Amino acid sequence: MEQTITDAARAALYAELPALLLPWYDKNKRDLPWRANKDPYRVLVSELMLQQTRVEAAREHYIRFVRELPTAAALAACPEDKLFKLWEGLGYYSRARNLQKAAQEVSEHGFPCTAEGLKKLPGVGEYTAGAVASIAFEQPAPAVDGNVVRVLSRYLGDALPAAQLRKRYAEELAPVYPAGRCGDFTQSLMELGATVCAPSSPLCLACPLLGGCRTKSDALPIPEKKPERRKTPVTMLLFYAGERVAIWRRKEGVLRGMYAFYTEERALTEGGLAARLAACGAGGAKIGQPTAHRHVFSHIEWEIAAYPVDCAGCEAEVASSFGVVFYPLSEVKAALSLPSAYRWALRLFKG
Ligand code: SF4
Repeated sequence: MEQTITDAARAALYAELPALLLPWYDKNKRDLPWRANKDPYRVLVSELMLQQTRVEAAREHYIRFVRELPTAAALAACPEDKLFKLWEGLGYYSRARNLQKAAQEVSEHGFPCTAEGLKKLPGVGEYTAGAVASIAFEQPAPAVDGNVVRVLSRYLGDALPAAQLRKRYAEELAPVYPAGRCGDFTQSLMELGATVCAPSSPLCLACPLLGGCRTKSDALPIPEKKPERRKTPVTMLLFYAGERVAIWRRKEGVLRGMYAFYTEERALTEGGLAARLAACGAGGAKIGQPTAHRHVFSHIEWEIAAYPVDCAGCEAEVASSFGVVFYPLSEVKAALSLPSAYRWALRLFKG
């Protein structure tokens, strides 16, 4: 692997990119639902989904989402519960909220067609703005995600951590964007990173950049140090009475505003829980064996102990003391959007 490269050699490698990548992309691009329509709203939806999940998982979500909400105006007017149900499984519900705010803005004022204008929309950062501007509006606006950093760092032999390369790549790519094929150029870089220049064992012999590549292996990019996750003990109380289960709405912290089961971010002992129930007049409730589960968010890790609590006969006391509402389990499964930190616990209820 070569570590240094002159400015002239670097410029020559960049200049070759469109001619190498576009014919390869035309021949090899995957048939993905969001590629059928370059409507900026649809491009924005797909890009935000792809930042949250793999292509295969995003495919189904995308099809369902744009079938239900085919325009920015439809999303702008969508009730939050329905929006969250459509977003279920994609995590980061704050992104769904921001997407709706962005839809409200563009419904009122129109879609900005430049990366600068797009960046002013809620939840739209540098990468997303570049993707929408180039794909939907044919602007020479680079969209540098992890795939693109991986491809370029290997192609150019840049032995630096990804965080130090993103901005530089965006600046260097902009002048080589080919007029009339800006969207395809953006997607060709992403596609190469997703299908050929994979994180490990890249398929160099099938790569259109092989001739000029300075690395030809997975030695780059330099891995970034991940921040340590904070571990938090969490007690989850799965109140139920017959076929009805208690749903709580989170008021703060991660998943604020989401449907959930009653949660305390601390370890409660069974004795402490029994005393708590007795104090609110629900001493007859039966506490079951806890189930341990771990849920990992980007920056914290929940170490969960989930207690089933049978509150037949004392539903009202539990509801008023814990701020929960009892719903039929079938309705919770079908109509309420439970984040994945909670959805796993549905299997602990019978029925
Ligand atoms: S030749 Fe290999 S390492 Fe270089 S860009 Fe292509 S797939 Fe990646």
